[in-house]
Amino acid sequence: MSEEIKYLDKNSEIPLMGVDFLGVIDRGTNIIELKPLTLCNLRCKYCFVSSGDYSTNFIVNSQFLVEKVKETAKIKGNYDLEIHIAPYGEMLLYRELYDLLGSLSEIKGISIISMQTNGLLLTKKAIERLKESKLTRINISLNSLKEEYASYLCNCAHYDVEKLIKNIYSLLNSNIQVLVAPIWFPGENEKDIEEIIELVLKLRSEGFSKQQVQIGIQKYLIYKTGRTLKKIQPKSWDYFYRQLSRLEKKYDIKLKLGPRDFGIHKRTQVPSLNLKKNDLLNVKIVSRGRWLNECIGKINDNQGIKILLKKPVVFSEELVGKVIVAKVIKANYRDNILTALFPYK
Ligand code: SF4
Repeated sequence: MSEEIKYLDKNSEIPLMGVDFLGVIDRGTNIIELKPLTLCNLRCKYCFVSSGDYSTNFIVNSQFLVEKVKETAKIKGNYDLEIHIAPYGEMLLYRELYDLLGSLSEIKGISIISMQTNGLLLTKKAIERLKESKLTRINISLNSLKEEYASYLCNCAHYDVEKLIKNIYSLLNSNIQVLVAPIWFPGENEKDIEEIIELVLKLRSEGFSKQQVQIGIQKYLIYKTGRTLKKIQPKSWDYFYRQLSRLEKKYDIKLKLGPRDFGIHKRTQVPSLNLKKNDLLNVKIVSRGRWLNECIGKINDNQGIKILLKKPVVFSEELVGKVIVAKVIKANYRDNILTALFPYK
């Protein structure tokens, strides 16, 4: 469990753009992605961001986020925008969730608010409040309908599948769309994926539309900083899509979903600094990161950067406030996420 929780607000000096695990992410589309916290109630064996293991967790003040979203929305154009809340953690642990949703829904041009969750903390009361706060869609990660196997994958003592399915019904009856998003672990949960497809078809046969209840099967990907399920070798994208085609035929259901299915389209991007890999830049260290070998730098008031500390350097509070020269090791032109290394020599 975490040793420390850091609460970020407008006085924190931590910019809300640039760092992958918190704040606002702009990938040049009509979607504005939010990462309000890093806390999780689970510690899944396959978690690609290793949530639940952080030595420091982060929570961002809701109004601080809302102000950034307003700025971003204005740049993108206040029409047909979607807010997608996808934390490196569990969103139902965020105490300011309903205030956040309420404020977001009042921003001009935001027509969809979607949110990822593992769903285990859903209750009747929470669903009522999500409805009142105008949540459009909820993406639930559910990898198996077998309690024992789901518990194994999520590393928890009890995974109540029955309760989760009841809550899916409650969400649908509250007019909140549900996207069930299982991860396909090759050679492990093929049967489980088919059972989840059958569940979605059953819900549709009971009157919920294709838009109300969707399924988005995700490919199992391995990341250097994530946890991995032992023994499982990810397959190629080609193999993954061939399997989806096979299941589409077998169940007469659309499984290959693309940007168009979600109304995603290109939009003006928040101006970036056009940094490239290997650029050197002056950065002020403003906070520790999630791990001892990570900290957060500030390039300017809008742009932060994740800084990885090279061994044997580890974070200490003495670093905060120092201006250092770091080398950019990741700068993707499609989003505003930056990573640098210090010391770089
Ligand atoms: S996969 Fe999701 S629910 Fe599981 S530990 Fe990671 S963030 Fe939490």
